[in-house]
Amino acid sequence: MKCPYCGSVDNKVIDSRMTKEGDTVRRRRECLGCERRFTTYERVEQPPIVLIKKDGRRESFSRNKVLSGLQKACEKRNISINTLEQFVDELERELQETGEKEIPSTVVGERVMNKLHELDDVAYVRFASVYREFKDINDFMSELKDLFATRAEKGQGNAN
Ligand SMILES: [Zn+2]
Repeated sequence: MKCPYCGSVDNKVIDSRMTKEGDTVRRRRECLGCERRFTTYERVEQPPIVLIKKDGRRESFSRNKVLSGLQKACEKRNISINTLEQFVDELERELQETGEKEIPSTVVGERVMNKLHELDDVAYVRFASVYREFKDINDFMSELKDLFATRAEKGQGNAN
């Protein structure tokens, strides 16, 4: 790594730490030529995930978007931010592992819904309603019905 001041390639690392997110390592280096200090960053190279929207437009996958959608869906549920972040990490890894450069946004939506279904029924329905934008209200209603039916079977419904 070339010194930005004198161009020497000889330097030593004097401090090395990982960022809070754990995806970047920041290194403080000291040039052996001029003794000045500079910083380098190292991160894993990940190809960006591109989503194909319903109208064919492309949009890059945004962790933050998914996370804020989940937070809204999980409002007042007993689900920690850590759990949600883990959820998004897992989702992102799954998407990376498909090896596809472009993924239909509907596929991502379905994945989120499936994972959320396992996590929390109420959050799932909330997310589903936002995700589908009430375009197919009948599907939404039938999902609600199914959900209440399952709850009744499980004996979780209110006895009175
Ligand atoms: Zn230097």
